Amino acid sequence: MIDLRSDTLTRPTAAMRRAMADAEVGDDVYGEDPTVQALEERVAGLFGHEAALFTPTGSMANVLAVRSVVAPGQEVLCESRAHIARAELGAHGAYSGVTMRTWIDPRGQVDLPVIQSLFAPDMGPFFVATAAISVENTHNFAGGAVLPVDDLRDLHEYAAGAGAAVHMDGARIWNAHVATGVPLAEYGACADVMAVCLSKGLGAPVGSLMLGTADAIAEARIWRKRMGGGMRQVGILAAAGLHALDHHVERLADDHAHARLIAEACGVDPASVDTNIVVVPRSDAGDFVAGAREAGVLVALVGPTAVRLVTHLDVSREDSERAAAALARLA
Ligand SMILES: *Cc1c(COP(=O)(O)O)cnc(C)c1O
Repeated sequence: MIDLRSDTLTRPTAAMRRAMADAEVGDDVYGEDPTVQALEERVAGLFGHEAALFTPTGSMANVLAVRSVVAPGQEVLCESRAHIARAELGAHGAYSGVTMRTWIDPRGQVDLPVIQSLFAPDMGPFFVATAAISVENTHNFAGGAVLPVDDLRDLHEYAAGAGAAVHMDGARIWNAHVATGVPLAEYGACADVMAVCLSKGLGAPVGSLMLGTADAIAEARIWRKRMGGGMRQVGILAAAGLHALDHHVERLADDHAHARLIAEACGVDPASVDTNIVVVPRSDAGDFVAGAREAGVLVALVGPTAVRLVTHLDVSREDSERAAAALARLA
């Protein structure tokens, strides 16, 4: 089976497992795990943020990041298919009392005029106040679309002027960086708080980070523990992340090329595929998923009429060519 359901499915490589086995560790709740500290410092530095916090999941990093800039009863604006709105099972409402309003963009892009029209300044006891605007780069359910850095810069400038924060869900910011060549720090400069994942295309088994100011991270460290996310000798996981940063970033370009190959086979314009995710609109989505499985390719249903295919570390060039041939027959 060639598994294109998600880039979370990667298994740690032999070299990554060796790095994990050799990691120096300590109790991270005591602040004594040197490998976790090295990872947090390195990732904060990459994005030009003051500090970072290692979390078990990207969802937890998003919850901590959003709650650091949005108080209970305030709102965050985001695109309608954002992961924070659709795929975190209401965590921001359930844990943080955060409400959301959404704009709709087929490519998950920043639509500044619409955001400006939605934006609600604090008007006292009448309307929910907008405290933050959230962007997702790359945008998962919009097919791995990259958000241009110029749009992000304009949004950040607008938000700062309006007294709101920008949150960036950068679960796949590495893919945006490799696809565009825009330095990670330039993306980092467009957001007040961020979440980034090591467990997607980078191929680590576990791990994400929240990024922000030293004060925001100090508070998030308390909330992480409160939510049950304080972890102990977790340097073995941080070591996987450090290994991934050394060895698995530039190779994302291969995943992007494989995704374009597979897109073409499914009747999707390869030029519309920015990174490693292909979303195929199909009225027969359920049948397509079943047919692909019979042909030896696992793909995911992400809506009644949408199929998602994701390339990753464990899908070789040869796998991609075989999957493309099988899917072309089906499509
Ligand atoms: C995967 C993902 C996350 C985090 O997911 P977890 O499974 O909680 O690690 C966050 N945002 C986006 C866009 C994602 O694709």
